[in-house]
Amino acid sequence: MSAPLPSSPPSLAAVVVAAGKGLRAGQPLPKQFARYRQSTVLREAVQNLFDAAVDLICVVIPENSEALVLELLSGLEDSVILTPGGATRQESVRKGLEALAAHNPAQVLIHDAARPHCPAAVVERLTAALRDTPCAIPVLPVVDSMITASGDRMQGKADRDALRRVQTPQAFRFADILAAHRAWNGAPDAGDDAQVAQAAGLGVALVEGDEKLRKLTFAGDFVEEKTPMIRTGTGYDVHRLAEGEELWLCGVQIPHAKGLAGHSDADVALHALVDAILGAVGEGDIGLFFPPSDPQWRGARSSLFVMHAVQRAAARGYAIGNVDVTIICEAPKIGPHRDAMQAELARLLGVQADRVNVKATTTERLGFTGRGEGIAAQAVATLVAI
Ligand code: MG
Repeated sequence: MSAPLPSSPPSLAAVVVAAGKGLRAGQPLPKQFARYRQSTVLREAVQNLFDAAVDLICVVIPENSEALVLELLSGLEDSVILTPGGATRQESVRKGLEALAAHNPAQVLIHDAARPHCPAAVVERLTAALRDTPCAIPVLPVVDSMITASGDRMQGKADRDALRRVQTPQAFRFADILAAHRAWNGAPDAGDDAQVAQAAGLGVALVEGDEKLRKLTFAGDFVEEKTPMIRTGTGYDVHRLAEGEELWLCGVQIPHAKGLAGHSDADVALHALVDAILGAVGEGDIGLFFPPSDPQWRGARSSLFVMHAVQRAAARGYAIGNVDVTIICEAPKIGPHRDAMQAELARLLGVQADRVNVKATTTERLGFTGRGEGIAAQAVATLVAI
């Protein structure tokens, strides 16, 4: 993938190194492709650089991962170049710089994909420093005391005041760092690009880093982002009782002097249930999918809405764990219809009947349900990750 050559050179480009670990079937994805905050680590890193005024980004990727990365970065293609990495991080960076060379940017940031957060203020400090020096890197002080060690033995103390923790992105005048990487002939791999720059005789300025730039390293870094196994939603609905209407509750037609008026078949229990399912998976509410203003739902069977909600949940990776529906009315009596209602709910939800509970209560003749003006229903749905 190559972005079109811009009419004027980008002032600030970036190389994002995401080439760590090859992709092999059966292996977990490298951490830069892991899910993170509704997104992925890589997409978050790339998006944050664009938000910090970077114009063009070369992402250095593992062999055979182009299709996956294109999908992860969909919508950003116009400003992203992909290039396969090398055997070492340093070689990967050089390949990224070579891929950017045709675009001739004035400045470049070199960044690790495993640091998804990049405050714009850090990028501002870095590019400001490039006015005076060819390179600038973000650093933080060391807070723990430092020692030197030999195996598992303490050797001596280290001078904490002289030490800094180095982060990325590191910033460079593009032509200088490209030349430095091309000229590198030291050890096979430098610790970072500032070392490559310094070896080429370039001055490196230090600017204040940010704890938000920390590298995701440990499994614990991802724990909070794991999909919850269980999600719960609630629903509540009311419909008016009126003469000349059919009465549908939990998908079962019940003989009664009055029926429920309103949108669709006005099955108040199913409406509460739909809201509970949609609520559990963060899909809004019934009105979003089946607005009362839309004539196509007039008189529609509410069972359609339930099946749609189950499909939305499945698309989000969740199946029904159990549901509990409470119907609140003075009449009709629900008891005689309870088994039929539970069976119908189980059928609509595609679960065993023991995952479904229907119960009823009155309000002691108080309020609109007590006066027989309407029926209310509430529902709780628990969904489990598939
Ligand atoms: Mg309703």
